Amino acid sequence: MIETRSLTKTYDRIRAVDGVSFRVEPGQVLGFLGPNGAGKSTTMKMIAGFLTPTSGTASVCGHDVREDGIQARRHLGYLSEGAPSYGEMTVRGFLEFIADVRGLAGERRRQRMDDAIGRLQLASVLGQTVETLSKGFKRRVGLAQAILHDPRALILDEPTDGLDPNQKHEVRGLIRSMAAERTIIISTHILEEVNAVCSRAIIIAAGRVLADATPAELEARSRYHGAVSMRVPDPLALRMDLSRIEGVAQVEVEGGRITAFPRAGQRIFERVQDFLRGQKIEASELQLERGRLDEVFRSITQAAAPAKEAA
Ligand code: ADP
Repeated sequence: MIETRSLTKTYDRIRAVDGVSFRVEPGQVLGFLGPNGAGKSTTMKMIAGFLTPTSGTASVCGHDVREDGIQARRHLGYLSEGAPSYGEMTVRGFLEFIADVRGLAGERRRQRMDDAIGRLQLASVLGQTVETLSKGFKRRVGLAQAILHDPRALILDEPTDGLDPNQKHEVRGLIRSMAAERTIIISTHILEEVNAVCSRAIIIAAGRVLADATPAELEARSRYHGAVSMRVPDPLALRMDLSRIEGVAQVEVEGGRITAFPRAGQRIFERVQDFLRGQKIEASELQLERGRLDEVFRSITQAAAPAKEAA
């Protein structure tokens, strides 16, 4: 439903986006991850029709964003970075304006306004001007604008940026609730968000796609994947014994915590448990690690060169 092929944007001598290709299907929430300046916003703006690609193509629901831009935009809701809107308009006035632009009328218009206002819990601020709203409410108005015409595809640039933890939780729930029949791309640099809402993640740095996988597949690339960590009264004394367990590659002690890392393909959790039981060692917070996305993200993106010169 959203597809890019060799999408490229060059500014002067910088390749902000460098040959990005991917395809997102209905029901998928794709997380776009990358450090600042990676090219996330530029890619999203090209799909949303706000920027013209230097080369390559993008399409929304089969409509090319350049050749068939109006149809492409009809199927797309877009929340841009920072969610700019018209500060002097009231929330209701702004949403009515968007409804006009989207050509909504009659009963469907009423339904769509009620749905967007209800989902984003905007009823209490409808008469307030946008510029007087808190950051969280401004973001919600931006989201309401993006979903007003009930689009089949959604592109949300940092949808939870600036929200407090409760609001983040709400917005993530909202994204999940809309995911079933839609195609959604969100950009984020919050890694917990990937686990919370995304069925798939693309890691981008210096304008290029460096990884395209499910969150679980990314976690499996972490050196912590399958590691066993715990708290014990005397971790240093245990270090040597743990390292002798079959399949254990390495043991690290950090503060009161000790972590055993497995050799590739080895499962060590039961063996470590048996060992502790056999030795009558009381371990607390015994944990089988899934892998750490932050570590995978760092190792993938730090290896990438900074934005390349186009010339
Ligand atoms: P992200 O959203 O991942 O933080 P952006 O897409 O905003 O990254 O930016 C990608 C790169 O393109 C950065 O190096 C940025 O400085 C550059 N860039 C973005 N917009 C412009 C512009 N209008 N003119 C020149 N360079 C730009």
